[in-house]
Amino acid sequence: MTNYDVAIIGGGGAGLTAAIYSARARRSTIVFEGLVTGGLIATTDIVENYPGFPDGINGFDLAQQFHKQAEKFGAETAYERVEALGRLPDGTFELRSNERTIRARAVIATAGADYNKLGVPGETELTGRGVSYCGTCDAAFFAGMDVIVVGGGDSAVDEGMFVARYARSVNVVHRRDVLRASAILQERAFATPNMQFTWNSVVERIEGEGQVERAVLRNVKTNEVSTVATSAVFVFIGQTPNSHLLEGLVELDAGGHAVVDLQMRTRVPGLFVAGDLRTQAARQLISAAGDGATAAISAEHYLTDLDGRAGSAK
Ligand code: NAP
Repeated sequence: MTNYDVAIIGGGGAGLTAAIYSARARRSTIVFEGLVTGGLIATTDIVENYPGFPDGINGFDLAQQFHKQAEKFGAETAYERVEALGRLPDGTFELRSNERTIRARAVIATAGADYNKLGVPGETELTGRGVSYCGTCDAAFFAGMDVIVVGGGDSAVDEGMFVARYARSVNVVHRRDVLRASAILQERAFATPNMQFTWNSVVERIEGEGQVERAVLRNVKTNEVSTVATSAVFVFIGQTPNSHLLEGLVELDAGGHAVVDLQMRTRVPGLFVAGDLRTQAARQLISAAGDGATAAISAEHYLTDLDGRAGSAK
């Protein structure tokens, strides 16, 4: 069985940045990337808010650069899914992927979160063509246009207000007649002149020829169906973190995100969590990358400490 100093679960912005830092610290490092490099960022058409790319960069291309940079410094990358993670009595970790089992002295989990989907016709086909799960990323593409935001939580209101800085109008479609969002965000949303609310309504279908053109809404109280012209449908109905590997090992918050401290440490020594998988993440590529760097530096301190203790015991 192969042993590594650091095993990283997830090949998004957090995981690949952690790999760059860990490999540059001369620690033997493996990154399990799953099926594709980049995680959520690989599905983003143009990333305009990552510093260093004033003209924007395709998300898939940027992820490939992260991957190349990690390999350049000696990180091993694997297109394998980690299916089980356990801590052995000696404090090391065992990871079983769909192809093999390895051991690592430290683990950085960055498996991310998936946006919840509406699951309605047109949503998948028009994702990246007007259907978006990130206002901060995509609002600028809809300057001067009429758009829909779905959801009633903090994300819908917060991101909806961001979108309202660009769009001509933002129609918040919510399935109830009260928002779940915090009071202060609600106050700001109600005071945003180009933000309207369609209550007790759900999106039944998203339509358009190669680009979102309209949405079919249904009032859940009256069952009345209406068609609304829109250039985009921003969906903010929560996220599901990919935390199943961590269940029973680390503390999870109410939403299933791993609880970490500012050094990305969990309550398990040697197990770090970074990016969208951790509690209170800003859910941006740049913050995920920052988390990845922090986690790798913390893992390095942890290993140095272990090595020092082993040395002084000799
Ligand atoms: P959330 O709080 O779970 O809200 C999800 C919203 O989507 C709810 O309004 C829910 O409706 C609605 N919804 C869920 N499933 C739906 C479906 N199938 N169809 C239509 N609507 C659906 O998720 P979130 O807004 O992403 O927030 C997640 C966490 O991050 C929260 O703890 C939040 O406080 C935090 N956060 C904070 C900030 C901030 O403070 N600035 C910003 C973003 C996120 P119901 O209300 O009817 O359940």
